[in-house]
Amino acid sequence: MPASTPTFRILKADRLMDGRDSPVQTDVSVLLQDDRIRAVGPDDQIAFPDGASGEVLEFPGGTLLPGLIDCHTHTNMPGTGRRGEDVNREDTDAIRVLRSAHNVAIALQTGVTTVCDCGGWNETTFSLKEAIREGTVNGPRVLASGRPITTTGGHCWFMGSEADGVDGVRSAARLLIKQGADFLKVMGTGGSTLGTDPFHPAFSMEELQAIGEEGHRRGRPVVAHCRTNDAMRMCVDAGFDAIMHGWFTDDTGAKMYDQALAEHIASHGVRVNPTLQITRSRFFLWEERKARGELSPEEEAQYERMKASHGETLSHAGELFKTGVKLMAGSDCGWGYYPFGHFDRELKAMVDAGLTPTQAIQSATYNNAELLGVASDIGTIDAGKLADLIVVDGDPSEDITLIGNVTAVFRGGERVK
Ligand SMILES: [Zn+2]
Repeated sequence: MPASTPTFRILKADRLMDGRDSPVQTDVSVLLQDDRIRAVGPDDQIAFPDGASGEVLEFPGGTLLPGLIDCHTHTNMPGTGRRGEDVNREDTDAIRVLRSAHNVAIALQTGVTTVCDCGGWNETTFSLKEAIREGTVNGPRVLASGRPITTTGGHCWFMGSEADGVDGVRSAARLLIKQGADFLKVMGTGGSTLGTDPFHPAFSMEELQAIGEEGHRRGRPVVAHCRTNDAMRMCVDAGFDAIMHGWFTDDTGAKMYDQALAEHIASHGVRVNPTLQITRSRFFLWEERKARGELSPEEEAQYERMKASHGETLSHAGELFKTGVKLMAGSDCGWGYYPFGHFDRELKAMVDAGLTPTQAIQSATYNNAELLGVASDIGTIDAGKLADLIVVDGDPSEDITLIGNVTAVFRGGERVK
């Protein structure tokens, strides 16, 4: 930005939520200077600097919020139910990265000004980040893990970073950082990838510790996909920063909440991204079928089991929160039947789990920025930060579904068309 001719804008809405668990403010304006927030304060104290002028943008009925940060997406994936195996077999890297560009544009238009990609093929997500940085692609800020580090034959092995043994995982981590990884994603258990085991830890303790060391030596947060209690405990003990999914299950796959483990996670300051919507999207499809009377008696029984399981998943996330674990909002969109453009559904799920709407929004703004090491630039509405802001119609602190009513998006002070 040319320092000689700064551009000023004043944004006014009925309310402002600053990204923390703090009360909604009213009669507050935000002054932008170029790509940064210059001042936030009462309407009657916010004005253009002496001798300067600019645009005043008013949003009657609206609420100003920090741009949302989705800490968990897969931009290579279409969110249409195609599996990882399908995208691996049928698509080229060129198609994958073009799809990523399409997906992140949708995210940006719906208020997600920062997207974390937690696993893509080869170097595609680094290419996406670079294309956005140079302006070839219009998109949100992207923080990419690149390929997840996984065991040979482990979850998402086809993305290209199978690694075994302490030396193997160290060199995988170093290569990812060399290529541009902003954080490291580790597959702590199997998952939906065919032939993997979701209910046992994938790596040894020594391998996990080595990855943690490599990431932290280079200032990269380390996050792990975990679908079982044993793997969660190991990743906490290996010094990881966050756990994704974090579903409490034993080694048979049965739901098994463990309060001592929740306390262990909390006391180590490890965060959890509970990915609630991705698990319940299938349940919601069944709910619709039930309402239309389409379920057979056997399916009715299966529906009841899904309903109970959904209730347990929500209550476990709520218990984690009550125990003092900081939650991170991340959709896992792209995967399964979860397309980009519906981050509001994950925030609604977090409210269903027991957070207030303001706490759910904090988990999608400040909490994510802090974990990712970018809180000095984004995540709250404060003077000096980058002007990543959104306006939603109505008051989302009263009704979280209103976070889907995005009427304006600013990325680095520029209004997104
Ligand atoms: Zn994921």
